[in-house]
Amino acid sequence: MAARAGLLWLVLTLGACASVPVTPPWEDLPLRYNVTYTHDPSPRLNVEVVLPPPLAPRLFLFRQPGRASSVVATFGNGSRVELFPRNGQVSVPEGARVLRYHHPLDSSPGGGGRHLFGGMGEGDAWHVAGKAYLLTPGRVTPDLRVELTVSGADALLPWKPDARGVYHLRGEDLIDAGFHAFGGRRCEARVGASVLEVALLGRFTHLSDAELCAWLEQAGREVVTVRKAFPFPRVTVRIVPVPGDDAPGVFGMVQWSSPPSISILVGQDATAASFAKDWVAIHELLHLTHPTLMPRVAWLTEGLATYYTELARARSGRQTSQRAWQELTEGFARGQAAAGSRTMEEVVAEERNFQGIYWTGAFFALHLDVELRRVTHGRARLEDVLELLATRGPTASLEGFGAAVDTVAGQPLFDALLARHLQRPAFSELAPLLENLGVRIDPGGVKLHAAPGSGLREALDGGRTPDDAG
Ligand SMILES: [Zn+2]
Repeated sequence: MAARAGLLWLVLTLGACASVPVTPPWEDLPLRYNVTYTHDPSPRLNVEVVLPPPLAPRLFLFRQPGRASSVVATFGNGSRVELFPRNGQVSVPEGARVLRYHHPLDSSPGGGGRHLFGGMGEGDAWHVAGKAYLLTPGRVTPDLRVELTVSGADALLPWKPDARGVYHLRGEDLIDAGFHAFGGRRCEARVGASVLEVALLGRFTHLSDAELCAWLEQAGREVVTVRKAFPFPRVTVRIVPVPGDDAPGVFGMVQWSSPPSISILVGQDATAASFAKDWVAIHELLHLTHPTLMPRVAWLTEGLATYYTELARARSGRQTSQRAWQELTEGFARGQAAAGSRTMEEVVAEERNFQGIYWTGAFFALHLDVELRRVTHGRARLEDVLELLATRGPTASLEGFGAAVDTVAGQPLFDALLARHLQRPAFSELAPLLENLGVRIDPGGVKLHAAPGSGLREALDGGRTPDDAG
């Protein structure tokens, strides 16, 4: 406060001299969010947005339109006006200083139901997506500074607060604000020098908090069979129980906040023993191994995570090599059934053809990995592409991904292989590839046998040798 008043005085003084370039005082003021959790009269987030005058953006929006029925704008003279979001958009009148609204978290009438984004939880433990409850500027400039505080509950947000509990964000952090947790219990999973901070948002019938964190720690260690080190120093994971379900991983999702944030729904009646067969946690954590594809290329990112889910579980010893190929070939068969006679290009254009998108992508990842190893005589592999991309920043385009493949291969490879897959019926290259790798689908299950490419297959599912661990 004192510093701010001092700056204002300085600027006004300098402003008297026309030849001195002047920084307007407001340029240094952040956009500030004060978020308060309360359960009175029902679980909700009361949000206060303090606008930096007078250059405050006029158009604000809920990037996931939803539950705030109105927003009250307060002006400098204390007068107020009630604004009603339309398609999530709020046009803020000139001179407004503060916006206030509340976001209901519960499923009571008007609450909006049990929803991973809008609000899911019980008691005083809630899961919500930042984009559902944060009213954000429609246009975010790189120099926009944001401060956020939380009171009323212990929160787990994708970011780390300072010693006073203030989150210092950049404007772009508001575009995908990730998943947030309010209340609940906490545990930590450590993978090398990295930490997974975990919020447990509800009760489990059989599982202890330590067992849940051990499950995530194992999945984290499996990520390190793909990347040399865990890809982020700190990520946050929220675990939400699903009543009436005993599946270990019911659903999982990554949000591309910075760093990414993960949430996983776990059957309330799941047991620790059932985690051995779970693939959801490792799948979500494997999404941390690749850059965010901009624009989005779901078949590639889901394909990579799906492909490595089977390899990583074999490399760690959680499943046998035979089981990994059984899972892969069964997935390819599901993908093939979903694809019919359509080309890969047609299948991946079908927004909701999940089996088709995930498994054509996983098959392409396998083929790409095999080709990379083949043309480099085993010196390079798909993991090296991920390592290279990690040195080039948190995002990549499809072209950038392809260029990284070609760099690692030492020759053009990506475009031709992709064109071959996109233009032909999906999975048309599957049978010859499996035959070459020595993977035979028998009525009783997959059999692995000696074949020209069986050494390469063992290199895929057998993990890293000490020689190449560095
Ligand atoms: Zn995924």
